[in-house]
Amino acid sequence: MTSPGLTITATPIGNLDDISPRAVASLTNADLIACEDTRHTGLMLSRLGLKPGRLVSYHDHTSAEARENLLAELENGKAVTLVSDAGTPLISDPGYRLVKACRERGIPVTTVPGPSALLAALVISGLPTDRFYFAGFLPNTAAKRKKTLDHLMTIDATIICYESARRLGDTIADIALISPQRLCSIARELTKTFEESWHDTAANLAEHFRLAGAPKGEVVVMIAPPDALETDLSDEAILGLLKESLSQGVSRRDAVRQISTDTGAGKSRVYDLMLTIDTA
Ligand code: SAM
Repeated sequence: MTSPGLTITATPIGNLDDISPRAVASLTNADLIACEDTRHTGLMLSRLGLKPGRLVSYHDHTSAEARENLLAELENGKAVTLVSDAGTPLISDPGYRLVKACRERGIPVTTVPGPSALLAALVISGLPTDRFYFAGFLPNTAAKRKKTLDHLMTIDATIICYESARRLGDTIADIALISPQRLCSIARELTKTFEESWHDTAANLAEHFRLAGAPKGEVVVMIAPPDALETDLSDEAILGLLKESLSQGVSRRDAVRQISTDTGAGKSRVYDLMLTIDTA
């Protein structure tokens, strides 16, 4: 039995076996399934062996009328399930305006959580997961994309972007121009037969895709935070470099900045090490 109100239901991002029992129940019991593309969702339901219920197409930006119709059904106590073509609705997919309208009108909203390329990519990236920033799709035009990356890459968190495989090479090249040694991770075709991932500096990845050409399929691009540059140097090695700089008359501030840039070690790490050096 599905309760009245809107249910935001996640569906697989490639592998149908990732559908959850609760998602099946939500799709089976809903009075109405709102989706991006009724044919696409109809096909998924028949592949899952589910009898398609009433499907209606919904898009945030073009479906003001469809939204009002859905809201009217919801206000009449109907159970509506929202799905997108793949993954979690609202995450670079339609649904935000519908949920907002439900909240404003006191209509219950709940979710059946599940797959999303965002978290699937992050957890296998090897990049810090304690703090991350989801940037959605980067702008289409080269100038706007560079400007956006310039800003994103100053944020102290792992940056996650959805990207089309076709534009991947250009995007990685832009990242490499801004910070060649910045670690990046790329996940392609997650949960599908040809799943693949790369983990290297932006410069190496840019070179790889320049030579190999654009891959096919769906990709997620992740950029390490500024402080997570790859460095194999131990604390002792960095301390040695700091002491050497100081002995050459370099100021403490300049030494921290220079050694952080030269070695790729995070500025705060180098600064903390500098604090342990007694120059009195
Ligand atoms: N709502 C979806 C979610 O929760 O992941 C995302 C929809 S967005 C329109 C589509 C983008 O998600 C793709 O361009 C790609 O960046 C990413 N994506 C979706 N499925 C993927 C997969 N299986 N592997 C890698 N990236 C994927």
